Amino acid sequence: MTKDHDIECRMYIDGRSAAGDAGVFDVFNPATGQVLGQAHSASVAQVDAAVRAARRAQPAWEALTDDDRRAHLVRAARTLEGNLDHLARLITLEQGKPLAGPGSVFEVQSSAQWTRAAADIELHPEVVFEDAVRRDVLHRRALGVVAAVAPWNWPLLIAIWQVMPALRMGNTVVLKPSEFTPLATLEAVRLIGSDLPAGVLNVVTGDGAVGQALVSHPDVAKIQFTGSENTGRRVVQASAGNLARLTLELGGNDAAVVLEDVDVAAVAMDLFWGAFLNLGQTCACAKRLYVPRSREREIVEALVAIARDMPIGNGLEPGIMMGPIQNPRQHAKVRALIEDARSQGATVHSGASIPVDGRGNFQALSVVTGIGDGIRLVDEEQFGPVLPVIAYDDVDNAIERANRLPLGLGASVWSSDPERAVALAGRLEAGTVWINQHGAIHPMVPFGGSKGSGYGSEFGVEGLKAVSAARVISLKKSYAARQ
Ligand code: NAD
Repeated sequence: MTKDHDIECRMYIDGRSAAGDAGVFDVFNPATGQVLGQAHSASVAQVDAAVRAARRAQPAWEALTDDDRRAHLVRAARTLEGNLDHLARLITLEQGKPLAGPGSVFEVQSSAQWTRAAADIELHPEVVFEDAVRRDVLHRRALGVVAAVAPWNWPLLIAIWQVMPALRMGNTVVLKPSEFTPLATLEAVRLIGSDLPAGVLNVVTGDGAVGQALVSHPDVAKIQFTGSENTGRRVVQASAGNLARLTLELGGNDAAVVLEDVDVAAVAMDLFWGAFLNLGQTCACAKRLYVPRSREREIVEALVAIARDMPIGNGLEPGIMMGPIQNPRQHAKVRALIEDARSQGATVHSGASIPVDGRGNFQALSVVTGIGDGIRLVDEEQFGPVLPVIAYDDVDNAIERANRLPLGLGASVWSSDPERAVALAGRLEAGTVWINQHGAIHPMVPFGGSKGSGYGSEFGVEGLKAVSAARVISLKKSYAARQ
């Protein structure tokens, strides 16, 4: 196998760089199919060492003042910003998304933004009851060691979502990035970690077995997991052993429901990015588009016209707006779903052409029509650059179809009539329903799934509560009076 680059990133355990006792593994560049570098495989003993280091470091970290921890987070945000180009380039090399547009520079900037937000959020003790005889105050304290397991689609940003609120609340963390995209996260932890007390933030790498060893560790108090539904089930099973609390951010198959009164020209660009952000490899992308039959042609033409203007190629090159699919397995899945739809009579409308040299996991952006519920491309999460458009005649029926799948991460309604859109939004089964936007997450707004998309919230005050334990301090006021 030829090499593009020779990047090697080590793990970070107890304040020190660590080579893997279980060897190294290759990381590939999805734009060329070539080896980009190596990361290290942690042994079970190293996972244990990382959790023990985190456990040792936790009491002193929690004993710092909240302001001290906030200051550490602000410094971490500055470190991310100060290494913007370096980290963005690594993300483009290993994940494939371009430097430009909502790509890797945006990912690093967002990582800094979410880190600052985790520092800024106010969470004060709350008087939950008070009368003449008692006063009950709800405090929040750390849980202990948090295990964070991340996927490959937004490798650094999702890791930051898992890590920063946990640190803010006085927990220490052991992070495991995806084996497909470990490099930028390893670099970021090395850079941020050098400013933190040893053991507060650790990162171990390797495949699912390393993740399994981490989430099953007896000293883990909380698991932040983002990934597929199948792995999510294994994480739930592992937590039966250590009784760790869970936040599970699993897959989505979000429906976007367009109403008849929509102004297509006004919403087309947002609709496009709602479906094709990061090449559709985003948990909360619109993955099924329900449109009124009378507006179908106009909507499809608008989306395909935008797709034709999106240059696809190696994301390091200037002007490229879409890169390759992150890995060959995912690429094969997307192609199989398209072929299955085509074989059942669907029509595939493609955007800009892909590079012709045959290297890399490139796939043209496509909109598929002549398709309905029950076809795999509609019923399964495609997690790629292909959007099925399903024509409907009756909006009540469209809402029913939007709700028929066992997932419920996000959904959206697109209309010129906000009141009507809000009323319909209330009928969609999802953790978030956006109106005239899709996937528009914000660091202060709680985000999480319903149904098979997982449970627990990230972001905002709810995100901080999710990585902390409630402690009520209950004072009997009358005691002093009787003395
Ligand atoms: P995945 O489940 O294959 O892997 C996710 C992580 O889990 C990786 O780090 C992997 O090594 C680790 N892992 C594998 N087996 C494990 C085990 N037994 N125990 C513990 N950890 C284990 O998912 P993926 O392919 O990396 O990501 C794609 C999926 O993630 C999609 O379904 C997507 O919708 C979902 N996703 C969800 C969100 C969200 O916020 N809801 C965000 C991004 C991705």
